[in-house]
Amino acid sequence: MGSLDRSTIWPYDERGEPQEFFYQRYAHPAGAAAERALGELDRGTALLFASGMGATTALALALLGPGASVAVAAGAYFGTARALRTFERWGVNVAEFDQKGAPPADADVVWLEVPSNPLLEVPDFEAAAAHPATIVADATVATPVHFRPIEHGADYVLHSATKYLSGHDDVLLGAIVCKREADAEALRTLRGTLGIVAAPDPSWLLLRSLKTLRVRQERQTATARELARRLAEHDAVRVVRYPGFSGLLSFDVEDGGAARRVETATKLIRNATSLGGVDSNMESRHRWEGDRIPTGLLRLSVGLEDVEELWADLAAALERL
Ligand code: PLP
Repeated sequence: MGSLDRSTIWPYDERGEPQEFFYQRYAHPAGAAAERALGELDRGTALLFASGMGATTALALALLGPGASVAVAAGAYFGTARALRTFERWGVNVAEFDQKGAPPADADVVWLEVPSNPLLEVPDFEAAAAHPATIVADATVATPVHFRPIEHGADYVLHSATKYLSGHDDVLLGAIVCKREADAEALRTLRGTLGIVAAPDPSWLLLRSLKTLRVRQERQTATARELARRLAEHDAVRVVRYPGFSGLLSFDVEDGGAARRVETATKLIRNATSLGGVDSNMESRHRWEGDRIPTGLLRLSVGLEDVEELWADLAAALERL
């Protein structure tokens, strides 16, 4: 990895022509290197944005206009539908649908999430790919280690790179990977024009983190599988949701009060939001998502700690119910 260049400007060449890097809003070395690495992983052309929501905003502006309809997976990250609904003021129609089946016939854009956060449902990609709409797949939780949506018919892959791609809870970043170079070029121009750009420091940290993505994912998947299995056998646990890959799972205890008691009782597992880091986090999602999800739902993002220590921590917290 090269050293970090924080310049906002680079001199033109001897003929007075701008080169690949001339003004940071359009491109910078750390961003370009991280985009190349992520594009290779996802088999497309990657572009970085200031956050996952910044990437969502850029894509909505690129794809939607007055009268357009977007169908978003029900149970997907709650911020996505909320962000898309801000465009209703400009005449965009937003509908939620069950991504385990076919998207609504009238959708111009279909927005999937693989798997959905925190309900962890996996979309029917075949049904979506058979639809004439533009297909966007948020693969934040799957990561390219487990699933590459472009190979299954998606036109765009979206990542909150804040999560597994960066992986250490110290980077806020979003990414869109485009299937077609022409789409990437149009989005690059829009990004530079609007300025929803990623800074060099987080881009450099992402590049560092991508080197360990696969080993982190392998370990987090193995641990999450084991914890999901043990949770499913626990008397205090009503449902466990785990798609079989990556490090995110959710489970339900009796009600909201029980969920609060469990989330505040763990010692190793932090009671914090977000997911995808090397340290485990758990929280009751009801505080953020209200009645979209069961009151007793706890979302657990499994880190790199020892599986037995994580289980001891969880089991002790569940014992208090
Ligand atoms: N997509 C998913 C699946 C997420 O979980 C999140 C954040 O929690 C986002 C998008 C938004 O990303 P960011 O927080 O980087 O803006």
